[in-house]
Amino acid sequence: MRVRIDLHSHSNVSDGTTSPSEVVERAVALGLDVLALTDHDTDAGWVEAAAAARRTGLSLVPGMEISTKHRDRGVHVLGYLLDPGFPPLASELGRILEGRDRRLDAMLERLAAAGVHLSAEEVRQQAGVHGVIGRPHFADAMVARHIVHDRAEAFDRWLRPGRPGFVARYAPATSDMIRLVAAAGGVAVIAHPWGRNTRQVPDLETFAQFAALGLVGMEVDHEDHSPENRERLRSIAVQLGLVVTGSSDYHGAGKVGHELGCNLTAPAEFDRLLDAAARNAAASGRQVRAVVGAAAGGART
Ligand code: AMP
Ligand code: ZN
Ligand code: FE
Ligand code: FE
Repeated sequence: MRVRIDLHSHSNVSDGTTSPSEVVERAVALGLDVLALTDHDTDAGWVEAAAAARRTGLSLVPGMEISTKHRDRGVHVLGYLLDPGFPPLASELGRILEGRDRRLDAMLERLAAAGVHLSAEEVRQQAGVHGVIGRPHFADAMVARHIVHDRAEAFDRWLRPGRPGFVARYAPATSDMIRLVAAAGGVAVIAHPWGRNTRQVPDLETFAQFAALGLVGMEVDHEDHSPENRERLRSIAVQLGLVVTGSSDYHGAGKVGHELGCNLTAPAEFDRLLDAAARNAAASGRQVRAVVGAAAGGART
């Protein structure tokens, strides 16, 4: 039996639309064996997802998708199996979350000036109790008011760079975050490197620099990448010895065409990721989070 591994998913702890346990249950229903929960800039969903994984027999990889910046472009860094309490990492995550919060009023003002009047409460309500406020929550508030049909339209008309509601927020340098994730005993993987906002920006040279800083992998198989770009990225990854991952970037109903398991990570690549994580954990001396369930063995069966 082929082991099915999906290493990137979101719950309503950040901007997915279903709870961590619902994400896990759906993964099981769709025949996945290994799932990473990677909410934006937080580990808040790990405990609930781990409990659901134990209940259902899924192997859960605790992770997060961290907002960073490289040459003024947003780059998402997936951190897996790290200690979120490592003080320098915890303080950066705190600054990122604060930046999300501070952006709220600025975005509301910009949108109001463009004729879209939303209240802070409406947006906070969409973000839920964890308060990881993202642009998708502004989109959801606009959908609720029938201003737009869906998130895609909200981004296209109001929220993406160059549109009236776009406001930049704090993000640490990608290179610093790659080092921090490793120092926290985890492994860093660049998410959708040639996705929406970073189309073909990180090139071979950039990835070589990142690899020298401790980058472990690259998310090659992602819906935002065309077949041609996947092959170009795969060859860069192979050239640099980076682990190649594939994943759905599931956001529940918030992102169409990103169903759990729509892209998968090869078991041998997952094993390489786990080996690197074990090395970084040992070198860090930190009490890192382990895979919940029999993932290490499971990946090899
Ligand atoms: P933020 O975290 O506020 O920077 O918002 C980025 C989030 O918005 C990411 O999770 C993206 O997946 C999501 N996003 C970006 N563009 C779109 C889009 N066109 N439709 C739905 N979600 C999007
Ligand atoms: Zn997201
Ligand atoms: Fe992302
Ligand atoms: Fe994501």
